[in-house]
Amino acid sequence: ETKTFDCIILGAGAAGLHCAATAAKRGKSVLVLDHAKQAGKKILISGGGRCNFTNMYTAPDNFLSANPHFCKSALSRYTQWDFIAQVSRYGIAYHEKTLGQLFCDDSAKQIVRMLLDECAEYGARVQLRTNVTDVSFDGQEYQLDTSQGAYKAKSVVVATGGLSMPKLGATAFGFKLAEQFGHSIQPVRAGLVPFTLHDSDKAQFEPLAGTACDVIAASDRASFKEAMLFTHRGVSGPAILQVSSYWQPGESVHINLMPDADAFEALKASKQQQPKMGLKAWLSQHIAKRLVTILLEREQWPQKNLADYSHAELSSIAECLHNWPLKPNGTEGYRTAEVTLGGVDVDEVSSKTMQSKLQPGLYFIGEVLDVTGWLGGYNFQWAWSSAWVCGESV
Ligand code: FAD
Repeated sequence: ETKTFDCIILGAGAAGLHCAATAAKRGKSVLVLDHAKQAGKKILISGGGRCNFTNMYTAPDNFLSANPHFCKSALSRYTQWDFIAQVSRYGIAYHEKTLGQLFCDDSAKQIVRMLLDECAEYGARVQLRTNVTDVSFDGQEYQLDTSQGAYKAKSVVVATGGLSMPKLGATAFGFKLAEQFGHSIQPVRAGLVPFTLHDSDKAQFEPLAGTACDVIAASDRASFKEAMLFTHRGVSGPAILQVSSYWQPGESVHINLMPDADAFEALKASKQQQPKMGLKAWLSQHIAKRLVTILLEREQWPQKNLADYSHAELSSIAECLHNWPLKPNGTEGYRTAEVTLGGVDVDEVSSKTMQSKLQPGLYFIGEVLDVTGWLGGYNFQWAWSSAWVCGESV
């Protein structure tokens, strides 16, 4: 006999588990299905095992979407403070690392434990190792055929996440299901992801692997003042991950290597005060030494004392230091991306309830939607907020 639930949630990740507890708290019978052996795998590895579970400064501006207004309602109805209150209720100790980013003091396991405890307390059933083979709708109810048998429900919530990190069990299932019910998908690509470099740059930057510097990384659409890291494969670090979400293939990003000073003013002052200082020595006082060597090589600045540079020369050096163009070859892709940009088109989904405008009883929450946050806890906050408004509505 087919078991029937008020609501079946596909995906026992951040959004799925939070939605399950929210709906169950309202007295709904809830079943969560996941093909993985373990719930919340991405939560467990997030934030280096400490889970950056939200950001104190979460606001709609921190999200990318074809419709930037869509996220506003959910974010304002279930805020970062609501989630922080729950974390505190569970006695989970946390701290701000930087820029409003909140991490567990101990372990991301505490967040997964909390979500599963909430599900258990309100009677939401979480069933792992279950493959969903077919979803159909008879006009009234959904039937889900799975490797563990068939289930029926009035509502189905798609919380299967994006495509990043296929090793952790990411699949395109949510996008396919959305298409099956007539939804459009905004083109998907890897976000919050390191850049790879063209071969010539790669060879030149190789000796820099492991070097970190504070920069402002900018695309035409956004800029981020954080650390940049050179790696054996290309460039990474928070500033680069952030800007990668705004980058389009073929574009350059611009790196401000001296974000806290006016390089032209500083060069002119040094020319007066230390006229015999060489450019290399001067640069080494302001940016990482290994980078200086490479910059001198790439930019072919004449090697002479500061006194011998004209103001025009100093101005062009300063311009380069503040606006150093770097042309990525591509990104490392879904293998290492933290998120997936694009996804289920939000214009076909209600921003109040996350219900499909095309198909009654079908809901989408979390990363499967075309809403992508910056690095820094914003993606989990989107998962919590979208899950909560959905759980209040199913
Ligand atoms: P997920 O948490 O990915 O959950 C989706 C679930 O669906 C998974 O359990 C999966 O097994 C299941 N599933 C997928 N396909 C199927 C299928 N066909 N059948 C059944 N089940 C299926 N964000 C932050 O805010 N802070 C961080 O510190 C942070 N760190 C991160 C670190 C890494 C390495 C990565 C990869 C991501 C990180 N993120 C972070 C992003 C964050 O993890 C995601 O945005 C968030 O987990 C999305 O929640 P979700 O519930 O939509 O999807």
